[in-house]
Amino acid sequence: MRLVFVGPPGAGKGTQAKTICDRFHIPQVSTGDMLRAAKTGGTLPPPLVAQMSAGGLVPDEVVVGLIDHRTNAPDATNGFLLDGFPRTVAQADALTAMLASRGQHLDVVIALEVPEELLVERAVLRRTDKRTGQIYHLKYKPPPPDADLEHRADDHEEVVRNRIATYKQMTSELLPHYEKLGLLKRVDGVGSVDDVTSRVLAAVGEPNKS
Ligand code: ADP
Ligand code: AMP
Repeated sequence: MRLVFVGPPGAGKGTQAKTICDRFHIPQVSTGDMLRAAKTGGTLPPPLVAQMSAGGLVPDEVVVGLIDHRTNAPDATNGFLLDGFPRTVAQADALTAMLASRGQHLDVVIALEVPEELLVERAVLRRTDKRTGQIYHLKYKPPPPDADLEHRADDHEEVVRNRIATYKQMTSELLPHYEKLGLLKRVDGVGSVDDVTSRVLAAVGEPNKS
């Protein structure tokens, strides 16, 4: 199973990815997580740190290089879930070519759809446990008292709105691109986490056993 999650910031990609990856025994590959790890480790060049902090995109060749390396790792032999990549048609074309060179192809692209005001509330109140990577929400999924919480630098309202605007620009080309290839499934991301999981499973053609 090789799938892609496309969706604006706060749509629930990371939350849903955990369940889907456990179910299919595939790794979650998030370019955002990889870039944040590089930033924390001090290996991300300062201009890219600035682009991320402002809510813009980093150059295609940077994320394509990360994906090429990560999807070639032994744990990705049976598939992977890409979260936050591709974000441009150029990235999508690079991914298609990369997979074709390995005799592989994408199975499905899931677009998670959530209205803007809910996205802002989800992203601004998102907190992540630094030790476990668990995603919490101060209103919808309150963290336990002993969690070591992180508030992402780009999860402040003004930057979230910039990131949503960037997303809208990019999807005006990316979603029609995958629609033409017959790979796109649109999924309503509003509702409980479990309800959204059921819709995602239906979209990838799997019955919900839970
Ligand atoms: P993304 O990876 O798309 O940016 P996340 O999975 O990190 O989004 O979710 C953003 C925030 O919204 C998190 O705080 C998460 O706990 C919360 N969240 C995710 N899905 C739902 C849902 N169905 N209902 C309510 N809150 C949700
Ligand atoms: P995310 O965690 O997916 O919201 O990504 C956080 C930030 O990392 C984005 O706002 C971008 O600055 C950068 N980023 C992540 N994935 C990509 C990508 N595929 N293309 C360009 N920039 C990316």
